[in-house]
Amino acid sequence: MDTEVLSILKKNQLSVTEGRKKILELFYKSDGALAHADIEKNTEAAFDRVTVYRTLQTFVDKGIIHHIPTTDNSILYALCKDDCEEGHHDHHVHFICDNCHKTICLEDVTVPDVKLPKGFKPKHAEMVVTGVCDDCR
Ligand SMILES: [Zn+2]
Ligand SMILES: [Zn+2]
Ligand SMILES: [Zn+2]
Repeated sequence: MDTEVLSILKKNQLSVTEGRKKILELFYKSDGALAHADIEKNTEAAFDRVTVYRTLQTFVDKGIIHHIPTTDNSILYALCKDDCEEGHHDHHVHFICDNCHKTICLEDVTVPDVKLPKGFKPKHAEMVVTGVCDDCR
């Protein structure tokens, strides 16, 4: 796992810092999305808020992780697919369990193109499906 984390940092031309290594490892260990608070909790105050925030922002910029919209306006992050490039995130649908709040990427389901009225220009579209996950059924 360590090698994988290091090779991702290298591939994205990011220098290896304890913060980047630790936070990226967390994403590989969890099988779903992570909230900012989860990350802070798991790094046990080894890094301050600003470091965590900056690290996440760098990962988003590089196409390593992406934001996931939530119904309560908190921000979740999940790993991108291998082929995600800097500044590019494909628009897949997300599923959020109403019960345990587990959030997963539905990589194969793309947000449909929405036909807008004449003269309107889309900038951003996201889609979340809520329901009950397999653990909670
Ligand atoms: Zn991405
Ligand atoms: Zn659930
Ligand atoms: Zn996703």
